[in-house]
Amino acid sequence: MKTLEVIDLRAKYERSGPEILKRISFNLDPDDFLAIIGPSGAGKSTLIRCINRLVEPISGDVIFNGVNVTKLRQRELRKIRSKMGMIYQEFNLVDRMSVMDNVLSGRLGYTGSFRSVFRIYPKSDIRKALEILEKVGLSDFVDKRADELSGGQRQRVGIARALIQDPKLLLVDEPTSSLDPKISREIMGMIKKMSKEDGVPVLCNMHDVNLALEFSNRVIGLQDGVKMFDGPTKSVDKKTLEDIYAFEVL
Ligand code: ADP
Repeated sequence: MKTLEVIDLRAKYERSGPEILKRISFNLDPDDFLAIIGPSGAGKSTLIRCINRLVEPISGDVIFNGVNVTKLRQRELRKIRSKMGMIYQEFNLVDRMSVMDNVLSGRLGYTGSFRSVFRIYPKSDIRKALEILEKVGLSDFVDKRADELSGGQRQRVGIARALIQDPKLLLVDEPTSSLDPKISREIMGMIKKMSKEDGVPVLCNMHDVNLALEFSNRVIGLQDGVKMFDGPTKSVDKKTLEDIYAFEVL
């Protein structure tokens, strides 16, 4: 079964505004690392956010492991969102909270309402958080406040928070645009390694084409809300990139 089937997806931000996604369709297989590339403003981030309905599509279907996400009510939507780990460009950490608490907040979707209000987590969650923090190389930073960390370390907390959700899909929105090139490559390597180890497919909005080509096995090219390309990364050539980025200097 496909992890994701996206069918004829359309999105707008304002009723009378321009169409941001124009009938986008694609599939994601369980072992895909799919990079979405295209010029700034093409709709890459909007596409990622329509998958878990942070942006509500105006029509079309998003089928996630056989469940039509676009048809779900809020309660079921919350449940299914907990299976979609999200990694953000600006990390989305709570600065005044510790690394540990930021990671544990990834479990909130699984925690009862009483426990979540008081942020009381089962011991098993804490054990799991420690394990994941070790994997992302942050064992020595467990009790540090998030705002004491470097950008790369902050993104590793973001990765750990997504992984502790036990996700069946990782939605990744420009994970490296706030980071320098060396750290960017490290972060991409870490996302790829974790996704392989846990068998979780990745849908990743990438502004850096070279990184996208280095880490993905498949590429979707968007231009002005239209899918211009969909194929294996190894088939992407200069002409493909020129078409996707027409008029933009790479
Ligand atoms: P990309 O990720 O490819 O840079 P985005 O999905 O962020 O593109 O944006 C696509 C288009 O939607 C852009 O024209 C952008 O200005 C517009 N847009 C993005 N977010 C909003 C929003 N919250 N409200 C209105 N327009 C938006």
